[in-house]
Amino acid sequence: SQPELTGAFATLMDWADGIRTLRVRANAETVADANIARAFGAEGIGLCRSEHMFFESGRTGLVRAMILAETVEARREALAALLPLQRADFARLFTVMAGHPVTVRLLDPPLHEFLPRAEEEIAALAGALGMAEDRLRRRLEALAEANPMLGHRGCRLAITFPEIAEMQARAILDAALDAAAETGAAVVPQIMVPLVASRAEFDFVAERVRIVAQAIGRERGAAPHYEIGTMIELPRAALRAGAIAESAAFFSFGTNDLTQTTYGISRDDAAAFLRAYVEEGLMPHDPFATLDHEGVGELVRMAAERGRATRPDLELGICGEHGGDPASIRFCAEIGLDYVSCSPFRVPIARLAAAQAAIAAEARTGEIGRKAAE
Ligand code: PEP
Ligand code: MG
Repeated sequence: SQPELTGAFATLMDWADGIRTLRVRANAETVADANIARAFGAEGIGLCRSEHMFFESGRTGLVRAMILAETVEARREALAALLPLQRADFARLFTVMAGHPVTVRLLDPPLHEFLPRAEEEIAALAGALGMAEDRLRRRLEALAEANPMLGHRGCRLAITFPEIAEMQARAILDAALDAAAETGAAVVPQIMVPLVASRAEFDFVAERVRIVAQAIGRERGAAPHYEIGTMIELPRAALRAGAIAESAAFFSFGTNDLTQTTYGISRDDAAAFLRAYVEEGLMPHDPFATLDHEGVGELVRMAAERGRATRPDLELGICGEHGGDPASIRFCAEIGLDYVSCSPFRVPIARLAAAQAAIAAEARTGEIGRKAAE
């Protein structure tokens, strides 16, 4: 059954909402998670990881065909089969969230998550794709990477396989029009480009999306409205934020990858030795759990300043794990982000932490309690 905030807890949350200025969104892909997020008071979805929709059962074969197809035609065939599935996924999400912002991130898995590994899987896939087994093996070898998390993922996939980004753009924009018709509310999706390091990469993907939007406008007689922005999750993107903001309408800080790439520590393997660092006093805390204010946080602050210097109305959010961590939330409020986005079950904590951050800020400016007393 649906979780619900009631009684004194709900009252406390209402007080928190009356004080905080930082908005709170949730990271969610499914209707179930979106409903939990809404019940806990999320004001939108800050990160829909669209690749999770690709991993749903029954879709693996199409997804593999999309990546491994030998010809553009074969790839387009797999994409044509995926399109209505993604469109329905997004339409459901936009309908549940009608009236609230939803940020959908284009495909961003490390490529190896899509590829078969086991011998029998490879043999079966060759049959399904109508490819000779040795040809498939050569293709898999060509795509193999020693460090997939630093490899062919994020917008790099959209650049090498633009048809995938085009299919997703079509699914998102058609779904937005479908949900607007269904609910009567304006649905303006925010399309987010992952793992950008340069404005050129962002522009490449944004142009593909623009062409799709134009085509839909012609077909449906109604131009879809959307915003396009980017994850900032690589140090280079933070450094180039001023230029990237010339093209991007919003930034969302991906502090999981930004922590990984700033420290050069794997986000997947780090836990054990980081504990020793913290125990020895070499680090105040695990930087993957709480934003490292002095290093990663400094990049976030700098990118926010550079981005807003270019585009004063640039919307700024955070969608890494830190978006649900109270100390990190306080930092986000201090540097002027517009919202944090966290897992649905952390939304109440984030609402409270955002209120505490606002109270701390007022204490600093000598206006303690003014809002709370109103
Ligand atoms: C991030 O890197 O912080 C992020 C939110 O993206 P993901 O965790 O999906 O890489
Ligand atoms: Mg990331």
